[in-house]
Amino acid sequence: MKLPPKIKIFCWRLALNSIPTGSVLKSRNMVDTAECKLCGADEDTWDHALLYCTMSRCVWAQLDEEVTELIATLCIPDPMHWVSFMHWIPPGSGQCKINTVAKAAYKGAVGVICRDDQGGFIAASALVIPNIIEPETLESMACEEALPLAEDCGIKKMTVASDLSKHPLNVIKNIKEMSRCSYMMIIQSINGRSRSFDYVRFAHEGRESNREAHYLAKHACTLGPGHHVWLGYPRVFLDVNVAIPN
Ligand SMILES: [Zn+2]
Repeated sequence: MKLPPKIKIFCWRLALNSIPTGSVLKSRNMVDTAECKLCGADEDTWDHALLYCTMSRCVWAQLDEEVTELIATLCIPDPMHWVSFMHWIPPGSGQCKINTVAKAAYKGAVGVICRDDQGGFIAASALVIPNIIEPETLESMACEEALPLAEDCGIKKMTVASDLSKHPLNVIKNIKEMSRCSYMMIIQSINGRSRSFDYVRFAHEGRESNREAHYLAKHACTLGPGHHVWLGYPRVFLDVNVAIPN
């Protein structure tokens, strides 16, 4: 992401909860109280400073109403998740979002991450296929991988989002049109399986919104063949997510 270095450093420190708020300074015995020096609130935490302090509210109020409403309804306790959430596009209320990515190097791998409408992690899975490196086939397998993961998590409404680039665009067009193609069996499986959900939408988003799925697919390339599923806290790739490149 192209951002000024000081913004990157701020995000990095925010993710580590090391912004010098009242509560951080108090925990280091550098001040007597954790109160906010601007508005007098009892506890100046990272989310108070960034979102709820009277001063911060004035800044957020400059943005359009939809964004301020979204921010007001967010309930994200961990600053690392908040940093992650800010580049991610939430699905409609009550839906889940499943981001998918396929990678082909000397072997094929797909990564799929499922989150709720608040950006909360639900589950992730990766599939490593040593013998398939054809990009569109892998992209279709990434879309297919989203469906059993959603079924296992009891999800009924979801948006499956892949990258806004040539191969995923072709695959989603073929899913929607049931076109004849070399991976038609996978397309048929996706369409058949989609019927068991109340709502499934296949969409494209910029790579930046799909970042964790890229990290997961890249990580999957280091794993052995077959399925890998994460149902707990996704430490392995969220750690990578907040690392600031350059
Ligand atoms: Zn304040």
